[in-house]
Amino acid sequence: MKVMKATPASKGIALGQARILGDSFVDAVCVRVEDPRAELARFRKAHDDALEDLKKVYERASGTMDEDTANILQTQMFLLRDKGFLHEITNIISGMKVNAEFAVKMAEERYTRMFSSMENEYMNARCTDIKDICLRLSRLLMGHTVEWTPNRYAQEILIARELMPSETVDLDVSAVSAILTKEGSIMSHSAILARTMNIPSIVGLGSQLDAVNDGDVLIVDGDTGTVYLNPDEATYAQFDKKKEELYETQQRLREYIGKPSVTKDGVKVVIRGNGAVVEDLERIKLNDAEGIGLFRSEFLYMRSTSLPTEEEQFLCYKNILESMDGKPVTIRTLDVGSDKEGSYIQIPPEQNPAMGFRGMRLGLWHRDVYKTQIKALYRASVYGPLSIMFPMISTLDEVLQGKEIIKEVQAELDADGIPYVKDVPVGIMIETPAAALISDILAKHVDFFSVGTNDLTQYVLAADRMNSRLSYLYEDIHVAVLRLIKFSADCIHREGKKISVCGEMGSQRSMTAMLLALGVDELSVNPAAVLEIRETICNLDMREAKEQADKLLGMK
Ligand code: PEP
Ligand code: MG
Repeated sequence: MKVMKATPASKGIALGQARILGDSFVDAVCVRVEDPRAELARFRKAHDDALEDLKKVYERASGTMDEDTANILQTQMFLLRDKGFLHEITNIISGMKVNAEFAVKMAEERYTRMFSSMENEYMNARCTDIKDICLRLSRLLMGHTVEWTPNRYAQEILIARELMPSETVDLDVSAVSAILTKEGSIMSHSAILARTMNIPSIVGLGSQLDAVNDGDVLIVDGDTGTVYLNPDEATYAQFDKKKEELYETQQRLREYIGKPSVTKDGVKVVIRGNGAVVEDLERIKLNDAEGIGLFRSEFLYMRSTSLPTEEEQFLCYKNILESMDGKPVTIRTLDVGSDKEGSYIQIPPEQNPAMGFRGMRLGLWHRDVYKTQIKALYRASVYGPLSIMFPMISTLDEVLQGKEIIKEVQAELDADGIPYVKDVPVGIMIETPAAALISDILAKHVDFFSVGTNDLTQYVLAADRMNSRLSYLYEDIHVAVLRLIKFSADCIHREGKKISVCGEMGSQRSMTAMLLALGVDELSVNPAAVLEIRETICNLDMREAKEQADKLLGMK
């Protein structure tokens, strides 16, 4: 048995046989050419064919593919047309007098090096697109064609360098039980696909996968990012049991679909889902969340190759509201900066980005960008119960400036006779200790609050959430964070407003009783956690929870 480890990209356990997409590893060798012009013509023909193929895939799948896949295909067509990329290849062919396949390989190496050196996960993931289009060009130049026959892989574990969007469009989702890739990140296409399909996936396994042969027995543990190659009987039996238990738990939890989340002593709690990409909508609905409590709109910006227009955003928000069938949706305004970079939103280099120009601070600086988003949101407001939420608030002035933008937007919409809902609830995130400590003041100006425990913990403990050496500070929830949540809940309730938690702490069932005891009214959680949190609530006695919370917080 061999054990491999890499980045877990989608949770769950799969046991099955390996199916390697062998053609994923086509390699080009360097050959000197006598006539570079003929080679250039050969390359241009392959380039035209590649573009044509992508267009065909796009057209064939339009209507059935999700928006994200459509975006990726568009990104690839955009990259294929990119003049800089084309010049790079043609210059290598004519300058070095080498074959087109080799020139493509060199350009691929240069571009992937460039993208992967950027400190931006979205741009890193674009390496996959560059590799995809280079693989496509190589295949055309070498005359390779890939016959994708997904049914051959019935219930088997797919192994690829990285899946090309054009391949995943045709993928029979019922035929694959896990996806393992040599390359890629949690933002890459196969990872997104696996999460959407709700099958386990591990990315970035690299050369470890060279040890795997077609038909080998594999265990994939998507929770820990571990793969067991040709496991011994005991390991196989252990994971088989774990998979069975997981299945039974999921089945048991399905009984909670359609049921309210009410504690044993009758306290009703609202559980909504967190989303960032359009595929999350399906997961939120499947898990019976009572709406969306946090939609991280920045991913719309991070995934796009240019600043999304008002119209693009309007269509996206309208789609979210319509597909939630009348359930409430809270869309958080742009929260780039720190770990979430937008490639075309200028953020000057900073010594300490987590404490820097991010969230609302950045939004108020790029007022035009923010205003465009607010306008798109208000235009979409007629399609469903929308709430707007501002991130990273630390002063009252930031809230007032945000509301000023809303007023301007409303005046412009009125002048143009565009319909919108006037009283869209406007809330804020509590992510800074300052926001928590002035929540009594802020509560006079906003309609609701949601605690971003990920950032709140980072700022209360002065512990960078991206620093793996400090993860121990996040493991045991610090009383200081809990005291701030309680303090905020008390202030907010005095003003008759509600407080929710949308950070990861809300998705931890071990924290449910504590959060509710502190006064949290609603939770917005990872869609996969909705039903287990509901089960926890239904088995909970609020009086007991409060007593325990008081003891832990040293308040009695
Ligand atoms: C948080 O900080 O807890 C939060 C929900 O926001 P994000 O994780 O997107 O920063
Ligand atoms: Mg945050």
